[in-house]
Amino acid sequence: MADSNVLEKLVSLCKRRGFIFPGSEIYGGLTGTWDYGPLGVELLRNIKNAWWHDNVTLRDDIVGVDTAILMNRTVWQASGHEDAFTDPLIDCKTCKARFRADQIPESQCPRKPSKHPGEFAECQLTEARKFNLMFKTFVGPVEESAAMVYLRPETAQGIFVNFKNVLDSTRIKIPFGIAQVGKSFRNEITPKQFIFRSREFEQMEIEFFCHPSTSEQWYARWRDSRFQWYRNLGVKSDNLRLREHDKAELAFYSKGTSDIEYLFPWGWGELEGIAHRSDYDLQQHIKFSGKDLSYFDDETKERYVPHVIEPSAGATRSLLAFLCEAYAEEKIVDEDTKKEDMRTVLRLHPRLAPVKAAVFPLVKKDGMPERAHALHDDLRRRFQVFYDEKGAVGRRYRRQDEAGTPFCITIDGQTAQDQTVTIRDRDSMKQERVATDKVPGYLLERL
Ligand code: ATP
Repeated sequence: MADSNVLEKLVSLCKRRGFIFPGSEIYGGLTGTWDYGPLGVELLRNIKNAWWHDNVTLRDDIVGVDTAILMNRTVWQASGHEDAFTDPLIDCKTCKARFRADQIPESQCPRKPSKHPGEFAECQLTEARKFNLMFKTFVGPVEESAAMVYLRPETAQGIFVNFKNVLDSTRIKIPFGIAQVGKSFRNEITPKQFIFRSREFEQMEIEFFCHPSTSEQWYARWRDSRFQWYRNLGVKSDNLRLREHDKAELAFYSKGTSDIEYLFPWGWGELEGIAHRSDYDLQQHIKFSGKDLSYFDDETKERYVPHVIEPSAGATRSLLAFLCEAYAEEKIVDEDTKKEDMRTVLRLHPRLAPVKAAVFPLVKKDGMPERAHALHDDLRRRFQVFYDEKGAVGRRYRRQDEAGTPFCITIDGQTAQDQTVTIRDRDSMKQERVATDKVPGYLLERL
């Protein structure tokens, strides 16, 4: 995935095929916001569902919540975000551009001189100043500071403030985790690289509460199992790495943090951070709320404040990684013309593919559309399927390749005689004949 043009091609494919559009586009857009189209919303939902299924549904020790985006301002004072969730901002007085100080070489405007002839030498940078990344808004009709609230910059704090509610309303015992998927907002100084760094995005987070003595083991377990999750969904090991933070990078309370990084077209970028946060967050909320957030172990009769392991992933950012990983262009022999051709294909994992199967009548006559509709109606009760009868079948295959659809099912002349259809595999392009009543089982086995 070293080809830097891939990103450009992917952005154009996403727009053309309805995965992702620039936010508010007909009004000139709004930087750092993106809208998910018909294919994109299915892909994003499949990623979130796969995460929820593997981390919540399949486990006895994790429960879910869905907490409010707007929270009492004190939450962000307790968490440290109001004081410290800042990036160092530098302005260039000459080009009027803004940069994150940690992303530019020392005291040099990173704009290329070729783009701005003559400007480079005179570029004047301001000193770095702290810029808080939280968006502000007001609750109620009066825009005064007492009514000011933030849009959450992470979903994690909604979990911490409900730790006691979950304990009191379920029978769950430590060790256990609370999971949440939802929108977060950050007023990023330089949103860039398509959806990688957006101002509005989605996260998938777990706070896993455990006894201090077992916390290092849980940290290692979560780090490894989260890494494996991306591999299971088709990310090749060459493109995925775990980067353990060194001591200097760690927050003072953290006993360890690892980033799962993906090799994007422009280089390595973080997909998820797994942090050992000790008892820092719960202690802060105890201090600021005055509430007892300790845990009592009935068996050992011990009372303590649990330690926390936090696997914090980006849903939209991992969507970009899955797309980069899936994107391929290759030489093929066209199914219609039997001539050499190029195709663009998204080799998405079947669990993530927005559409699982497309159903085509070979031609629009001889009862084929009726049979195809009947099969489509049967399949749609179980799978996300798509019906298409327009144009040459080779072109229909090409469109499904670009959408990442794993299977195309074609009803042809032979179907009326022996009740079989062809099923074409997206990756190998091989076709096999399958009895119509065996199609649901065929798909179930492979999806
Ligand atoms: P970065 O260093 O890239 O700004 P971060 O270390 O601040 O990220 P965390 O606060 O650890 O990120 O957030 C957890 C996850 O949320 C990240 O790994 C990423 O997947 C996602 N995420 C964070 N900020 C953004 C953003 N602006 N746009 C899209 N996803 C984001």
